[in-house]
Amino acid sequence: MSMIETIDICKTFHGKQGRGPLEVLKNVSLKVEQKEVVCIVGPSGAGKSTYLRSLNRLEQIDSGKIFIEDKLLFDCKDGVNTLKLSKDEVNGSLLEVGMVFQSFNLFPHKTVLENLMLAPVHVKKIRGEEAREKAKRLLLRVGLSDKTDAYPSQLSGGQQQRVAIARALAMEPRIMLFDEPTSALDPELVGEVLNVMKSLAHAGMTMLVVTHEMGFAREVADKVVFMYDGAILESGPPEEMFTNPGNDRTRQFLQSVL
Ligand code: ADP
Ligand code: MG
Repeated sequence: MSMIETIDICKTFHGKQGRGPLEVLKNVSLKVEQKEVVCIVGPSGAGKSTYLRSLNRLEQIDSGKIFIEDKLLFDCKDGVNTLKLSKDEVNGSLLEVGMVFQSFNLFPHKTVLENLMLAPVHVKKIRGEEAREKAKRLLLRVGLSDKTDAYPSQLSGGQQQRVAIARALAMEPRIMLFDEPTSALDPELVGEVLNVMKSLAHAGMTMLVVTHEMGFAREVADKVVFMYDGAILESGPPEEMFTNPGNDRTRQFLQSVL
């Protein structure tokens, strides 16, 4: 089963105050199979974040198809979904997709435990006690059992990002999207977050990861996708992409980051 598939996704931002339209996604087609880890790499401005955001509707696409778990959810033309699915049907599928951002976005006035319980209780209507037990298990999994009652400001960036990962997992997603999850971290804190992501990958989570961590991509990814100027220029297994990229742009990019 493919967990995520997009066909010919297009997106243009219409500039304000006389700035021309900006075509940010140009026919982006990609498939992520169950339990696959796919890493998207590419220069800043390539459209990587817009692509991820379009998968869970933080961004509306102009045209193209989006499937989640083989189910066609969006078939858009001129910014309008031509499918007549109910809100519940769409939202149910979107709940299968968890996301972790570069900025951790934790609720500052809630404890770590409360951050993990909020969505399960309010969105999924899970009983408080059950949500609490689940949250504790997840904190154990990301190595933060001792921070249950701490507030985000009392944690390091790496710890906050691990809480953010646990918080996404609390909704029991079947696919996890990561948008440069370690880019905002001090270098010495990157490893602890990548380790949590690695263990998640080894546990069989389907993951789509935008990252500049080439070591992670090389070690963990099943497939590396190179995005440039709104399009996927090339994709393949990491050993191929890193040692023998077929495209000059890919080669230039890898030379600049490796
Ligand atoms: P990446 O994540 O690869 O750095 P982004 O998807 O963030 O790229 O951005 C792609 C392009 O779209 C950039 O030129 C960016 O400035 C532009 N862009 C992103 N979001 C918006 C927006 N809301 N309005 C207008 N332009 C945007
Ligand atoms: Mg980005």
